[in-house]
Amino acid sequence: MGGGLAGMMAGIALQQAGQNTAIVSQGQNALHFFSGTFESLQAPPVRLAELLSAAGIRVHYREGVRLMPLGTFKEAALSLDDIDLFPVPRFGKRVLIVNFLGYHDFFSSFLAEGLENQGMECRIRFLNLQELDNAKANGEMRSVQIARSMDRIWEKVVQEIRLLLKDEDTVILPQVFGLSDVTVPGRIRQAIPARVVFVGTMPPSVPGIRTQILLRRRFQLLGGTFLMGDEAVRAHEYEGVVHSIATHNLDAHYLEADNFILATGGLFSKGLRSNPFQISEPVLDLDIDHPEDRNDWYNPTFSAEQPYMGYGVKTDEKLHAVKKGEALKNVYAVGSILGNTRPELGSGAGLAIRSAFAAVDEILRSAQNDKSAQNGKEDYV
Ligand SMILES: Cc1cc2nc3c(=O)[nH]c(=O)nc-3n(C[C@H](O)[C@H](O)[C@H](O)COP(=O)(O)OP(=O)(O)OC[C@H]3O[C@@H](n4cnc5c(N)ncnc54)[C@H](O)[C@@H]3O)c2cc1C
Repeated sequence: MGGGLAGMMAGIALQQAGQNTAIVSQGQNALHFFSGTFESLQAPPVRLAELLSAAGIRVHYREGVRLMPLGTFKEAALSLDDIDLFPVPRFGKRVLIVNFLGYHDFFSSFLAEGLENQGMECRIRFLNLQELDNAKANGEMRSVQIARSMDRIWEKVVQEIRLLLKDEDTVILPQVFGLSDVTVPGRIRQAIPARVVFVGTMPPSVPGIRTQILLRRRFQLLGGTFLMGDEAVRAHEYEGVVHSIATHNLDAHYLEADNFILATGGLFSKGLRSNPFQISEPVLDLDIDHPEDRNDWYNPTFSAEQPYMGYGVKTDEKLHAVKKGEALKNVYAVGSILGNTRPELGSGAGLAIRSAFAAVDEILRSAQNDKSAQNGKEDYV
């Protein structure tokens, strides 16, 4: 349940291990806002590196900082290949920032101001591309629409940038390349005689959507079933074991399985819901640890860390979801629905990936135990 990073990772790992898996995925997830940096992960563990590489997702690792959309720098480590990581918050002397006429989701002047504060000299230029005229006329100058054109016309963009380039050592471009062809950012870097840095735009995130598409493609290629746009609405449970779930689109046809993984995200993705009195988990009504008094849920200082962001469903040490104080035997909770309840698994993408792998390992281990027990019985007979 849930086709974000955690659900996709679990689904792919299960398919790879020979399990039949279906993912019910309601809609937009945090990958649509992905910066391209995997929080709380350093160099990728071998298993993750192999999974990403098989899916066609290119990552690299270096301890350093990355350039943010408003010209500031932020610590980063494991990142998608098109995100540059620098040892210090400065990377050149003279910078050409290239934007597209009519595109307002890339903040070139803020970016220039931030870089100038770091002692870099910036020049901003706008390309007026006739290929974007339709998008402009229809008011669709958003990152994904532009990215769809860019995969076709990136060579022309490169030619225009080469003409614009004077004595700059760095060219900055909005991250609207490589939506359908992961090799495009690398080819742009090779074709421009200066360092090329891609910088995040307003969501939706093009590298995030590309990551989501590649993960889904890999899952389906391995034989997984992806039920897009559907929603798990309730589970049928008896004595601590869930037998099936009902979904919105399948109506009275229930999805039966040996195991269920709840990867429906936190409050942001409606994996958790709230009203003035309680925070709840809508599919299984799982236990959530939060103070009774609503005034304790938040910090009145808006920009402070907010307690409610850390609330998540309760699990036992093997990530079995807990309901009315009892662990459900075949339901696992993974990803951001855990909130900060499992700090040892990290946060952000690190939490999504580590918890997904941990639940998959537990499912495979219990399947193996069941098989051994079955074989033992047969031997005895
Ligand atoms: C805006 C934002 C930006 C972020 N950026 C980063 C970043 O750059 N780097 C980083 O490391 N971390 C980032 N994070 C943290 C992020 O939570 C994790 O990295 C990770 O992507 C979470 O994945 P998830 O699968 O647990 O949840 P989600 O990505 O939230 O996915 C849950 C999915 O489940 C679906 N769903 C919900 N209810 C149901 C239901 N009943 N049935 C079926 N489907 C359902 C939702 O529609 C959604 O598609 C960001 C988080 C947010 C909110």
